[in-house]
Amino acid sequence: MPHSSNTINPARASFIQDLKGAVGLEALKTLDPNATEVHSPPPATGSTTRLERYPCTTQKPMPATIAGITNVAALQVGYGKVIPRWKTGSTKTVNFAAFENGYPKPELAFLAATKLKEAADEWNALKLGIQLNWVYKIEDAAFVLSYAKNDNPAVLAEAFFPNDLDLNVLNVYPAAFEPGAVQYLKNIFLHELGHVLGFRHEFAPELESDEQSVQIGPRNPTSVMAYEFPPQLQPSDIENAKTFYQFPGKYIGQAQGEPKWGLMIVDYDANN
Ligand SMILES: [Zn+2]
Repeated sequence: MPHSSNTINPARASFIQDLKGAVGLEALKTLDPNATEVHSPPPATGSTTRLERYPCTTQKPMPATIAGITNVAALQVGYGKVIPRWKTGSTKTVNFAAFENGYPKPELAFLAATKLKEAADEWNALKLGIQLNWVYKIEDAAFVLSYAKNDNPAVLAEAFFPNDLDLNVLNVYPAAFEPGAVQYLKNIFLHELGHVLGFRHEFAPELESDEQSVQIGPRNPTSVMAYEFPPQLQPSDIENAKTFYQFPGKYIGQAQGEPKWGLMIVDYDANN
């Protein structure tokens, strides 16, 4: 259940207020998770295109709905020399809302939100101690699902790592609604929510070594965090995700190029 927005902290309340002032209420309209309407993916139109790989970049265009807002820094996320993770507990949630506007067709907003919820439920079933919940109001959300333009047809979506910013954005791009991808929207979000939960790409040690990473469990090129398409939760992902979230220590592993202590875990409370 969404908690009441009267628990919102003043700094965050003023951030949301500024956001409304900057882009208007219409742009910030969100979908009601309790609406019973059922939306199915549009049929693939004759194409049998199947994506071979799943690239997501570190370039993050602004959401269509809030492009033009001046305070862009507040919507970006850094990833420093730590391991960000969510604080766990029986009541801990990372809430998300879903923008209603900005999509080329209104029904795509509901489709995307519904598939994001399905992906969230799949991660939630692991009982990591942090639940991903769809809420109506942006005031109750730590992140918002948004349609954003991206000229690169290979990039499907983009997320963020755990943090306590006022509001994060999970962008879904036009390419995710093309035949060959749209049938796998849930899988796309499975991968993106992996990032939200703190997981880097499977190939981070080789291809993203500018940001340090630590390996949990054995390598698995078919991991949901690899570029296999469609991404699917593998037994190793489930096991290693649990290991990560149950890990009681403050430091994990031996980071590349770091002394023996590895990287420090930083646990965040979601700014719901
Ligand atoms: Zn990714």
